[in-house]
Formats: sequence, structure tokens, C-alpha cells
Amino acid sequence: MAGKHTLTIIKPDAFGAAKAGNIIALLEARGFRVRAARVMHLTKQQAGEFYAVHRERPFYGELVDFMTSGACMPMVLEKPNAVVALRDAIGATDPAEAAAGTVRKLYAESKGRNAIHASDSDDNAGREARFFFAETDLIY
Ligand code: ATP
Ligand code: MG
Repeated sequence: MAGKHTLTIIKPDAFGAAKAGNIIALLEARGFRVRAARVMHLTKQQAGEFYAVHRERPFYGELVDFMTSGACMPMVLEKPNAVVALRDAIGATDPAEAAAGTVRKLYAESKGRNAIHASDSDDNAGREARFFFAETDLIY
């Protein structure tokens, strides 16, 4: 069965524009519950490690620069079938292709500066939750 938890990050563009409250409200209205949250300014090493899967991609440097450009807000969210439900709620990577009402359609500026991250599998959700939160921070 698909898991109940996923990891999201309100990225520096949206967090810096004071959109965190709106985004959390949208996600709560979609049935997600916040189970862990923190505000932090990622180091280059943390951002590089978090997105290491994209290390060989041409946008990797730009991605690490963007993710370290200001504070961001990692959170663990809970909902049945959480990974798929959150990918659905945030919309396509490029806001121009994102469906109406999704976080990226509403708050993203571009494919690079796209407001929010969401885990893409249950395995990665677990790995990413442990990346940001010690087991003792996780209340579920
Ligand atoms: P995320 O992993 O952040 O939730 P995603 O799964 O929709 O996004 P990925 O393909 O995993 O998309 O890319 C990771 C991130 O890298 C994107 O969210 C975006 O910020 C950046 N990115 C991806 N493709 C490009 C691109 N062509 N140009 C610039 N930045 C890009
Ligand atoms: Mg991704």
C-alpha cells in the first residue's frame, strides 16, 4: 500500500515572497496535515546532496544556487497515498504546464524557480524526511 507521508519544501522564491501561509492553507484544504516543519537556509553542501540525483544535469548549478538563495521550509505532510496526492497538488515542474489550482500554477515563476518540491516515491519520501528531520522530530 502507498504510504501516508511525503516530504515537501516551500522553496526560497515562495518562502521569501511570504507565500508559505497561503501554500500551507491550500495543502491543508486538500486534506494534508503537517507532521513536521522547520525553516532553514540550506548550505551548498546540503542542497547539492539533496538534489544529487540531478548532479549531471545542465541545470544542477542553477538549482543549487536557487535552493541556497534564501530560507526555505521543509515539511513532512500526511494524507492517504501522500506522494501521488502531493505531486497532483503541486502541478507540473514548469508552471506554464501546471494545472489550474495547483501550487505551481498559482505561485511558481518559472521551471527553475517553481515554489515547491515534492518527493517522487515512497522510498524517496522516507529518505528525504530523514534528511531534514531526526526521528525524534517526527510525531507519526
Ligand atoms: P522537485 O524535485 O523540486 O519536486 P520536480 O520533481 O517537478 O521538482 P525534477 O525533474 O526533479 O522536477 O527537477 C528538480 C528541480 O530542478 C525542479 O523542481 C526545478 O527547480 C529544477 N529544474 C528542473 N528542470 C529544470 C530546467 N530545465 N531548468 C531549470 N531548472 C530546472
Ligand atoms: Mg523531483
